[in-house]
Amino acid sequence: MRLKNKSAVITGGAGGIGLASAEKMLAEGVKGILLVDLNEEDLKKAVAELDSDKVSYVTADVSKNEDVKKYTEKAVELYGRIDILFLNAGIEGEVKPITEYPEKMYDKVMDVNVKGVWLGMKHAFPYMKESGGGSIIITSSVAGIQGTANVSAYVTSKHALAGVRKVGALEGAEHNIRVNSINPSPVDNRMMRSLEEGFAPGNAEQAKKSFENTIPLKRYGKNEEIADLAVFLASDESQFITGARHVIDGGMTV
Ligand code: NAD
Repeated sequence: MRLKNKSAVITGGAGGIGLASAEKMLAEGVKGILLVDLNEEDLKKAVAELDSDKVSYVTADVSKNEDVKKYTEKAVELYGRIDILFLNAGIEGEVKPITEYPEKMYDKVMDVNVKGVWLGMKHAFPYMKESGGGSIIITSSVAGIQGTANVSAYVTSKHALAGVRKVGALEGAEHNIRVNSINPSPVDNRMMRSLEEGFAPGNAEQAKKSFENTIPLKRYGKNEEIADLAVFLASDESQFITGARHVIDGGMTV
């Protein structure tokens, strides 16, 4: 019961890592969770899977100011405060060299992956200040630490999150708001299926093997393993940790 009496918001809550994190947070006694995602059908499915009256959902595009205002307001309306804000929504963009990368897609990836996180902080900070603090967790990636050819927008966006994390941690500290990031290597879920297909069209299995070979533990991470780290950062066990990046990568970046 490491999250007893805490309320949580998870963006990208209908996706692989978001849903697994909601499940772990419920098991740790969270008092309420608001799942935020784009598509209502996906959210309904996620809520049905979690099968708990502690779970609510709201559709929102994290890159839109009004939507972010709406989901933070809804969380406070439901639970009175936001103790845990898991800024996890993200998109992979396309797999193309910079010279061929569509400008529109570059903008979209930056809007969702970077601005979405910045807006989340912007709207949640006042509530967290008022209630005495909170834990903000950003899902970055190993792509926020090292480069990979042909995914320039994704890599750039995840590197940019280091800046948001650091400034957020400094501005939040006096209010007991902690800001940390999770930096996973490939995780065995939809996003990697899409990237494998992008890197090796029609030969995704081969792409997966190549990725796995770059990881000393020789496998992808699991949604549940990333969720375990999110729970730790959400809990008071990590109360002296802020501004830090937490790599979870089977040794990939060592
Ligand atoms: P996923 O695609 O299953 O989940 C991402 C979720 O974000 C989806 O449910 C999607 O609908 C939602 N989303 C996308 N754009 C949105 C928007 N504008 N507004 C609201 N919701 C939006 O993949 P995932 O792996 O669970 O991704 C979660 C996070 O983990 C992402 O930030 C991703 O970049 C990061 N990550 C993933 C991997 C991986 O290998 N899967 C590795 C490192 C980091």
